[in-house]
Amino acid sequence: MKEIIASVITIGDELLIGQTIDTNSAFIAQQLNGIGVRVARRVAVGDQESEIRKALDEESALADLIILTGGLGPTADDITKPLLCNYFGGKLRRDQATADHIEWLFNEVYKRPGALLPRNQQQAEVPDNCTILPNPRGTAPGMLFQKENRIYISLPGVPQEMKDIFIGSVIPFLQKNCKTPFFIHKTMLTAGIGESMLAEKLVDFEETLDRSLKLAYLPQYGMVKLRITATGEDQPTLSQQIETSFNQLKALVSEYLVSDKDEKLEEVIARLLLEKQSTLSTAESCTGGRIASMLTAMPGSSNYFKGGVVAYANEAKESLLGVKHSTLSTHGAVSEETVREMAKGVLEQLTTTYSIAVSGIMGPTGSTPDKPVGTVWIAIANNNTIKTRRVQLGFDRIRNTQQAAIIALDMLRQFILTKSLD
Ligand code: ATP
Ligand code: MG
Repeated sequence: MKEIIASVITIGDELLIGQTIDTNSAFIAQQLNGIGVRVARRVAVGDQESEIRKALDEESALADLIILTGGLGPTADDITKPLLCNYFGGKLRRDQATADHIEWLFNEVYKRPGALLPRNQQQAEVPDNCTILPNPRGTAPGMLFQKENRIYISLPGVPQEMKDIFIGSVIPFLQKNCKTPFFIHKTMLTAGIGESMLAEKLVDFEETLDRSLKLAYLPQYGMVKLRITATGEDQPTLSQQIETSFNQLKALVSEYLVSDKDEKLEEVIARLLLEKQSTLSTAESCTGGRIASMLTAMPGSSNYFKGGVVAYANEAKESLLGVKHSTLSTHGAVSEETVREMAKGVLEQLTTTYSIAVSGIMGPTGSTPDKPVGTVWIAIANNNTIKTRRVQLGFDRIRNTQQAAIIALDMLRQFILTKSLD
C-alpha cells in the first residue's frame, strides 16, 4: 500500500515573529499520525502572497496531502482564500449555506445582529472549485481542493475552529477517500526514571523488536511515556505482536510503571482515590497551588479533592496549618520537620484520608550552603503514617515547580498503593 505523505503549512506573520506559538501544526500532525498518514514536513510562512505560493509549490512536489491554516479571516492581512482560488484556477462565488451560517452566528450565538459587517458577509464568498468544510463555531469555512491527485485543505488559524473542522470534516474525509495503513498505538506512563536510564534498560528489547513495531520515548517533567506503534496491513498479526511486546515492556519497567494506558498521573490518582472512596488535601509552599490546580483541572475532582492551602510565607504556615514557630526557626521552612507539620495540619483542618505537603527552594535565589536551589521536601500523610522525601531538582524555577508537583503526586500514588496493602 502506498504511504500517504502530508505537509502542513501554517500561515501568519505572528508565527514568524514568535508572537503566537504554532500549536496548529502539532495538533494536525498528531491527528494525521493517528490515522496512519505520515507528516513529512511542517512549514511556517508569513502573510505574503509570494511566500504562500512558494510554499504551496514546494510542498506539492513532496506531499500527497497539504494542510494549510491561517489567513482566512475578514481582515486585510488574511489573503489565503483569494490566493488559493487563483492558484487552483477558480472564481469566488457566494455560498448561501455559509451566508446563512454567518448570519445565524451573529444573531443567535454572538447576539450581535447589528454587528454583521460587509467584510463578514464577504466570508460567504468561496472559490467555486473547492468543497466547503463547515466551521461550526466561526465565520470562515474550511476549503478542500483537489488537483493532480493531491488534496489541499485550508483551515482557519483560530485553533479551536481549526480543530472542530479537522475532527468534524477532515478526518472523516480522509478515512473515506484515502486508503491508509492499519495503525495501532499503545502507550504506558512511567515515573521516577529518566529517559536515558530507561533507554539503557531497554537496549535488548529495542533490538529484538519486530520491524513493524516502533518504540517512542516521550519525556515530560519526571515522567516518561513509552509508546509502541504498529503499522502494517495484517491487522490480526499486528494486534497480537503489539500486545506481546507491550506486555514484555510492561514487565521490564514494572518498577516505574504508573499506568498501562495513555493517561495522566492525575487521572491515575483520581481513579485510586475514587476506588478507595478516599479524599485528599494539599498544603503547598513552593509549588504555589500547582498540585491543587492539576487535580482540579479534571472534571469530577470534587469527589475526592477537598481543598488546599497555599502557605507561602512562614506566618501562613503557622496560622493556617499550625506549623510550630519553633520548628520553622530551628529547622527552616524547607525541612523534613516543616513538611511533616504542614501535611498533618492540612489533614486535620480538612479531615481528609490523605494529604500532600511540599516546601522547597525553586530558585534562582534563596539557596543556602546546605540547601541549594532545587532542594524540595515532600510529605504524604494519612492518619497513621507520614512519609517524607527530600529531592534535589535542577536550577530552573518553572521546571522545578512542575517536577516537584509530579514527584509529590507520584509519591502519593505509591503511598496509596502500599498503605492499602498494610
Ligand atoms: P480569523 O477569522 O480569526 O481572522 P484566520 O484564519 O484569519 O481566522 P488568523 O487571523 O491567521 O486566522 O489567526 C487567528 C488567530 O489564531 C490568531 O490569534 C492567531 O495568533 C491564531 N493562530 C494562527 N495560526 C496559528 C497556529 N498555527 N497555531 C496557533 N495559533 C494560531
Ligand atoms: Mg493571520
